[in-house]
Amino acid sequence: MGDGGLWVTDEDAVRVRLEVELDVEVLDLALLQSAALKRIDATEFAVDEGDDAEALKEQERNEVRSGGPGAALLALVDPFDLIPNGVGAEARGSVCGVLSDGRPGGGPDFDALFEVCTCGDEDSCDRCAGFQLTPPTANVLWSAAQVLADWGFDDVEANGDESVTSTKDWALFDEYPVITYGQDAVWRRQAARCFDDLAGDLERGEWPRPTCPGEEMAVHLMLKYAESMLEDGLWTEDGMRSESPVHDDDFDWVMAGEVFVQDTDILSLFDETLDGIDDPESELNQQIRMGDYRPSAWFVPFNNMPRRDGRRPFRR
Ligand SMILES: [Zn+2]
Repeated sequence: MGDGGLWVTDEDAVRVRLEVELDVEVLDLALLQSAALKRIDATEFAVDEGDDAEALKEQERNEVRSGGPGAALLALVDPFDLIPNGVGAEARGSVCGVLSDGRPGGGPDFDALFEVCTCGDEDSCDRCAGFQLTPPTANVLWSAAQVLADWGFDDVEANGDESVTSTKDWALFDEYPVITYGQDAVWRRQAARCFDDLAGDLERGEWPRPTCPGEEMAVHLMLKYAESMLEDGLWTEDGMRSESPVHDDDFDWVMAGEVFVQDTDILSLFDETLDGIDDPESELNQQIRMGDYRPSAWFVPFNNMPRRDGRRPFRR
């Protein structure tokens, strides 16, 4: 074989098609968007004769301003940069799109499922006196559950039975208490399904109320992730599939956390000074009447909650 190797002759260059999927974590949406706008400003647009380069630029800027993080990344990412110069190959064409941009969307008609009372009479209206799960809140929580379930099943596919301490490559299960780090793929698949079960409650117009410790952890993480989606700007008016009026209870994660769960004992598993508290034989556990929170008990239904169908499937 000569320098060209097996595939290339002088007359007839071989075309190779690569597939690249890039997972990107957006840490600062405002910074990302301003970087994208700067890039557009600095780029010389090659246009056909008769086309207005400035108008094209303005169109791209508007896409970045009104779009989500995906639109901003598309303005910054150039697939042609992937092939270095002088390596004997050149990019000739590319397709670059956004597969998902983390923004909530989809799902059932939350306006119909979670109709709220807006009379505001807290003295005589039980509904207004208590916490109401509003359509936007339900929608964000549902979206958070979708993302977290996906991450859980991704982790199982990537890492199987590995301990969480064996690699840094975790999307979800490194957020769990340390006592769960050594659990296997079977356990993690059940933990991931907890998010789907709670999302299913929301799809039926019901509060996501945990029926086992695994679901308590799932609700805790859904509330936490829902809040961060709002803070990071991943939830925007565009993504809101709700026509309902703004309500005081919208996005009240603290109150939601209080009304969905029976208690927050499970959070003590994050406290490393309370080592062993998960074990019902331990003194600490008995003092607060915590019950069995060892990982082996996480998917055993609580006695005072309806049981889920044991034959229900896993999403994957
Ligand atoms: Zn009312």
